[in-house]
Amino acid sequence: MISVEQALEKILSSVDILEEEQRPILDCLGQVLAEDIYANVNVPPLDNSAFDGYAVQSGDTSGASQQSPRFLRVIDTVLAGSIPRHEVEPGTAIRIMTGAPIPKGADCVVMFEDTDEAQRRESAGQQSPVEIGILHEARAGLNIRRAGESIALGSIVLAKGVVIRPSEVGVLASLGRDTVTVIRRPLVAILATGDELVDINQPLPEGKIYNSNAYSVAAQVLRYGSIPRILGIALDNEDSVVAGLHRGLDADMLITIGGVSMGDYDVVKDVLAKQGEMVFWKVRMKPGKPLAFGMIKGVGKDGAARDIPHFGLAGNPVSCMVNFELFARPAVLKMMGRKNLAKPTVEAVMENRIANEDKRRIFARVIVEKREGQYFARLTGHQGSGILTSMTLANGLAIVPEDKTEVNEGDKLQVMILDWGEEV
Ligand code: AMP
Ligand code: MG
Repeated sequence: MISVEQALEKILSSVDILEEEQRPILDCLGQVLAEDIYANVNVPPLDNSAFDGYAVQSGDTSGASQQSPRFLRVIDTVLAGSIPRHEVEPGTAIRIMTGAPIPKGADCVVMFEDTDEAQRRESAGQQSPVEIGILHEARAGLNIRRAGESIALGSIVLAKGVVIRPSEVGVLASLGRDTVTVIRRPLVAILATGDELVDINQPLPEGKIYNSNAYSVAAQVLRYGSIPRILGIALDNEDSVVAGLHRGLDADMLITIGGVSMGDYDVVKDVLAKQGEMVFWKVRMKPGKPLAFGMIKGVGKDGAARDIPHFGLAGNPVSCMVNFELFARPAVLKMMGRKNLAKPTVEAVMENRIANEDKRRIFARVIVEKREGQYFARLTGHQGSGILTSMTLANGLAIVPEDKTEVNEGDKLQVMILDWGEEV
């Protein structure tokens, strides 16, 4: 049986980065930029004021203090978004709002708090003062935001390969970009298999269960930035599985769920053998041992044959989600052009015993908490691979190495963090 690392290596060497596409910036969250972005403008475009205040000549403020203000004549007001009409000359000031362009002649801005503006307003009401007292010396350049200080015209702002987050969306918008070239998101087709399955909008006959896995896996696909297509449910026979898969042959990845455990594997295996090629079956891990991976012959948009990576996820609800996190997630991220494929891990002190009877790598569902600068992890309860609520309680997977036969309370383990919630 191959190890987790060997399985991941085979998977990653079988998948390629997808093509580029042009998308509206707000659709690109989590996608990888496929072009270098150069600044076509200065941001900000002009020298402007960092505060509400008075644009003055710094020389006019020398010696100014609370006791001996320097009085200047106010000749105009300039608002954000407007262009100054007048120049500041010695002995004068222009009232200026945050973000408004600095008038010619001025070399600094004295903020309202450093003037007698407030006292004047008390006596003069809403009227703008005709004269202002400067209460502090100001040096040249004070409170001026320089043109291009955020982004300089012609400079490279975002490089190819950057992952688009809200701040990147904002930077693109500040350059006036409404679309951008990114690596496209993979389409992932998901087929559940099992005679016992019923879809969620149907009544539940005796002896049947709802097809929950297609939905948990589709949600994982969405969460990591790809596009899920649920193909429905196939029965446990070859024709039904083949017919189901045929509805997904235009996808970038195929996922089947179930039908890979010992007694069951024949159907998916036969389908794989006829429709493509099996790369491996079974990984030394728990839960999720029966994972199968292969390539299925599909058709491209141009009608040409192409190989689609196929994951045969274990059917048990926890196993299938763990299989996805460990193997399908890095594969879709690689297809999207992402470089960092690993979930964050922390070292945590275990608060429960875990027995490892058959030398597999265990991924135990745990609740990780930080107390006094140290991470602690405790089991979510019953670790049966059919107990999906153990995933809803967990925020991490504690990793028991295959050669560790027993974990005792107080032992330290690496824990893969599934959710960095604020509560951790
Ligand atoms: P299998 O690998 O097909 O033998 O499935 C293992 C277990 O997972 C069985 O108890 C199945 O009923 C259950 N199972 C398989 N597929 C699904 C699914 N799509 N939704 C919920 N449970 C499933
Ligand atoms: Mg089954």
